[in-house]
Amino acid sequence: MRVDAITLFPGMIDSPLSESIVGRAREEGFLELGFFNPRDFTDDRHRTVDDKPYGGGTGMVMMAEPVYRALKKARKRNSFVILLTPKGRRFDQALALELAKKKHLIFICGHYEGIDERVTPLADMELSIGDYVLTGGEPAAVAVIDAVARLIPGVLKKEDATVNETFAGGLLEAPHYTRPVVWRGNKVPETLLSGNHKLIAEWRSSRAQELTAATIRRQL
Ligand code: SAM
Repeated sequence: MRVDAITLFPGMIDSPLSESIVGRAREEGFLELGFFNPRDFTDDRHRTVDDKPYGGGTGMVMMAEPVYRALKKARKRNSFVILLTPKGRRFDQALALELAKKKHLIFICGHYEGIDERVTPLADMELSIGDYVLTGGEPAAVAVIDAVARLIPGVLKKEDATVNETFAGGLLEAPHYTRPVVWRGNKVPETLLSGNHKLIAEWRSSRAQELTAATIRRQL
C-alpha cells in the first residue's frame, strides 16, 4: 500500500512511523510512505502557507492553493483522499479495515486554525480520531496509518493476530497474562494453565463478553 501525507511537518509522521512494526513494514515494502509539504508549492520567497482569517478572529488559516498544488502532485488515479479534521467521521476499527483495502491513501493534515474550507470538497472523506482538538492533523495521521498498516496482509507475522483482538468480532478482547504464574501475589487464572484448549476458548469468550458488557455500562 502507498500512503502520502500533505503536511507542513513531515517529521511528526515520519519519525513515529519509523519504529517497531510499522517501521519494519516500511523497510519490507508492505507500506510506502511519502510526504508533500505545501511550503514546497508556494511562489513567494517566504514560502507563505497561511494567512489571517476573513471576518477576523484569532489564529492563522492554511491557504488553499499550496495544499491544492501538493494534492495535485500526490494524487494518482486510485487515490482515496482523507481530510483530517475534528469535525469528520469518527475513526474506528471497521473503517481501518475498509481503508486497508485501498491501494493509495492521501492524508491532508491541517495546522493552526485549520485549512481554508474551499479545500474540503477535494477530499473523499473528512475524518476525526476523536472528540478533542489536536494542534495538527499529524498525530491523527499517525494513529490512522498505524491502525491501517497492521491490517495489511503480511505486516503482522502471525496471521490470526487481528482475528480475535478487541473490536474484531464486536467484542473487547479477553485479558492476557505471561510469566511468572504468580506476580506479587496475583495468580494467572487457573483455566489458562490447564492446557485444555476448549476450556481456554470458553473462558476467553465469556471474559470478552463480560468485559464488553461492563464497558458499555460504564459508557452509558
Ligand atoms: N479550528 C479547528 C476547529 O475548531 O475545528 C481546529 C483546528 S486544529 C487546532 C488544527 C488541525 O488539527 C485541523 O485542521 C486538523 O487537521 C487537525 N485535528 C485536530 N483535531 C483533530 C481530530 N480530533 N481528528 C483529526 N484531526 C484533527
